[in-house]
Amino acid sequence: MPLVTSTEMFKKAYDGGYAIGAFNINNMEIVQGITDAAAELKSPVILQASAGARKYANSIYLVKLLEAALELHPEVPMVLHLDHGADFDVCKDCVDNGFTSVMIDYSGHPFEENIAESKRVAEYAHEHGVVVEAELGTLAGIEDDVNVDAGAASYTNPDQVEEFVKRTGVDSLAIAIGTSHGAYKFRPEQCTRNEKGILVPPPLRFDILEEVARRLPGFPIVLHGSSSVPQEFVKIVNENGGKMPDAVGIPEEQLRHAAELSVCKINIDSDLRIGLTAGIRKHMVDHPDHFDPRQYLSDGRANVKAIVAHKIKDVLGSDNKI
Ligand SMILES: [Zn+2]
Repeated sequence: MPLVTSTEMFKKAYDGGYAIGAFNINNMEIVQGITDAAAELKSPVILQASAGARKYANSIYLVKLLEAALELHPEVPMVLHLDHGADFDVCKDCVDNGFTSVMIDYSGHPFEENIAESKRVAEYAHEHGVVVEAELGTLAGIEDDVNVDAGAASYTNPDQVEEFVKRTGVDSLAIAIGTSHGAYKFRPEQCTRNEKGILVPPPLRFDILEEVARRLPGFPIVLHGSSSVPQEFVKIVNENGGKMPDAVGIPEEQLRHAAELSVCKINIDSDLRIGLTAGIRKHMVDHPDHFDPRQYLSDGRANVKAIVAHKIKDVLGSDNKI
């Protein structure tokens, strides 16, 4: 099967009360870890590339890596998605070069400008059989070129969603309900600590999510910044020469609940980065004599696969959906 759009998978996910994982890709090992896990668990999957990924790896490599993954796993529905397209030109470039889905992120601009740019992208993309995600509201945090400090972040206003979707014609909508980009999603003073001393962030605003769903029945909602920052992997990083104090993510049970509601796409990047880094760091410490990249990258890749498998089974609920 060639790359597909997310239209069919979102419809099934909405009706079935689960979500599709959107995992960020930057190199071959990450693509392999994600797609091997998806194939084993019979899960559709979205592979997404940010501006940073395109700069690092070059879009052509990313497209070709997915072609290879599809050749190995032809039964797995896969979407190649642009994460945080900054403007029409970036989105157009991806539409023209093999992506099946693009995000236009004009959420930092005024409402009317966000509508105009998102509409322009939707019209061009739809002419070429590509689907479009837009964003309303602003997430805090840092992810590649996207850097919003907590003061500039704002929750999505449910009063605006119907007008936005109607006037832009976009296919899915990313909303801000308290998720955040990066591995340090909240300052320690925003959190409480549980009995193990681990930071617990403020709960997601499910009231906003439910109000958006009421106003947009059947419409797929997207959550960005939804890594959970698995503490077992942070511990491995810290025990092997790393330094990630007080890294904190979104509790998985809240994401599971969001997946049961109208959220059809959940974005996960930091967790894969942490898993890959944990594998490499531990390998280097355990085997100081090794210098073959295949040795330490294999351990990093195995962690990526294990994390994706866990997300598919225990958080997204997208296993056995092919
Ligand atoms: Zn994002």
